[in-house]
Amino acid sequence: MDGLMMHRPLLQSGLLDYAAEAWPGAEIVSRRVEGDLHRQGWAETRARAVQLSLALEDLGIAPGDRVATLAWNGHRHLEIYHAVPAMGAVCHTINPRLSAEQMIFVAHHAGDRLLFTDLTFVPLLEKLHDRLPDMRYVILTDRAHMPDTGLQALCYEDLLEGRATDRAWPEFPETTASGLCYTSGTTGDPKGVLYSHRSNMLHALATAAVLGPDLGPQPRILPVVPLFHVNAWGLPFTAPLVGASLVMPGPALDGASLWDLCQAEAVQSAWGVPTIWQGLMAEIQSRGAKPDALRHIVVGGSAMPRSLTEAFEKMGVDVNHAWGMTETSPLGSQGSLTPQERDRPFAERMALKQGQGRRVFGVEMKIVDDAGRRQPHDGQAMGELFVRGNTVAAGYHDNPDATARAVDAEGWFGTGDIASIRPDGFLTLRDRAKDLIKSGGEWISSIDVENLALTHPDVAQCAVIALPHPKWDERPLLVVKPRGDARPGLEDVCAVLRPHLASWQLPDDIVFVDEMPMTATGKISKLTLRQRFADHVLPDLR
Ligand code: ADP
Repeated sequence: MDGLMMHRPLLQSGLLDYAAEAWPGAEIVSRRVEGDLHRQGWAETRARAVQLSLALEDLGIAPGDRVATLAWNGHRHLEIYHAVPAMGAVCHTINPRLSAEQMIFVAHHAGDRLLFTDLTFVPLLEKLHDRLPDMRYVILTDRAHMPDTGLQALCYEDLLEGRATDRAWPEFPETTASGLCYTSGTTGDPKGVLYSHRSNMLHALATAAVLGPDLGPQPRILPVVPLFHVNAWGLPFTAPLVGASLVMPGPALDGASLWDLCQAEAVQSAWGVPTIWQGLMAEIQSRGAKPDALRHIVVGGSAMPRSLTEAFEKMGVDVNHAWGMTETSPLGSQGSLTPQERDRPFAERMALKQGQGRRVFGVEMKIVDDAGRRQPHDGQAMGELFVRGNTVAAGYHDNPDATARAVDAEGWFGTGDIASIRPDGFLTLRDRAKDLIKSGGEWISSIDVENLALTHPDVAQCAVIALPHPKWDERPLLVVKPRGDARPGLEDVCAVLRPHLASWQLPDDIVFVDEMPMTATGKISKLTLRQRFADHVLPDLR
């Protein structure tokens, strides 16, 4: 027997319609590439998205077409985020930190017809456009700032000017594609994850359900996480739902710029990867104070070092350690604590926050061994994490081989992460499968060793990578970016590790770098480190 309730498609256009009406007090604040600070409400964002959609129709963009962006976080990028899906087209966000080759690859693979770009990337596109012969460009600026360029680009504000500011959005099935984001592809070509209206709406609802209480009513949120990577963790869709204001940082993501913006705009919650929080914490320490209103951060993308979590928590900032990936929209698990857990002693709370929290509603999890056998959720057993749910990719866009590799016989998606799950549902990521160090038939979690090594005062950043070893298969090498001029010795760092690790888990050697190589998504690039230190000879083999 069917239920007798209305069926309305879950379409993203409903988000702007809702926020424009329900949240007149919320605003989108943008530090723009042109140098100014711009403000508008959700109603104006909707009006401008309407204008943009009408302009795109005039340019011949039809439902199903892919429209690309190469841009920082700002209100114009947000308008594209809503306008393109609302008209039934697909918003493809290109990560400007991809190599030129990868950018060309994703633009061709996606079949992009039009590209919106910030002024920052015009010189780059001038170099690439010979290889994108059919691409048309729109520059996200006004007439006064239009550059002299051979790109024959249109001006964004000109496109909008004089157009109607209201329309009824078209209706279509909720399973229609709405967004496209390629994984950075540290190995092989980038793979496209094609979100739907339904998946993004369910993701926004699930995110609002678990994070809403910690965010409080009408929060002021700073998405440091870029719009060009996994929908800025869904914030463009969650924010209109909960009436949040968004404070968009543009290209200035260093600690000092973020500190100033948080302070000036009374930011309460900020979202980003651990390296961002390292930069902000250094700034907080040098100024001797945190931005006044800041009381919550969401962190994910790579493991948040415990020492950094503790530093934020000690100044009254609630750290929510989340896990996810491009293929999971991205939120898979998140670490907000129950009232009972909040009452526990500091050390116990920090131990909980070292893990990646509980799964969000709609994302099922299993861990399996090499033979695909399920492992118990007892907090001890480790296995590859597989996930299933309405916000998880069923496959990769136009890539049957990668899809076949990623999805198991039961239809679960293999994350490539090694994890354990406690009986109370807490997920702990032990490592990426390819980063685990396999020594003498046992596994060493690089995340565990890095977390401990970071408690040494002279270690600013570190990474543990595997080097081949004739007797043990692999042994760990510790790569350190020192905090100052002092270079800690191996024994010195091992003294910090020894109380927590077995002797065979300690690194065999230590090497130093001036800068850590980073991936396009803001993580330490272990691939680059493995290549750079491939010829390093461990002490017992010299
Ligand atoms: P990429 O394009 O670099 O793969 P993703 O953001 O999709 O970008 O990366 C997802 C991966 O990031 C996960 O599979 C996991 O390995 C890692 N990751 C995400 N969040 C965390 C976290 N909180 N702790 C540890 N690793 C994480």
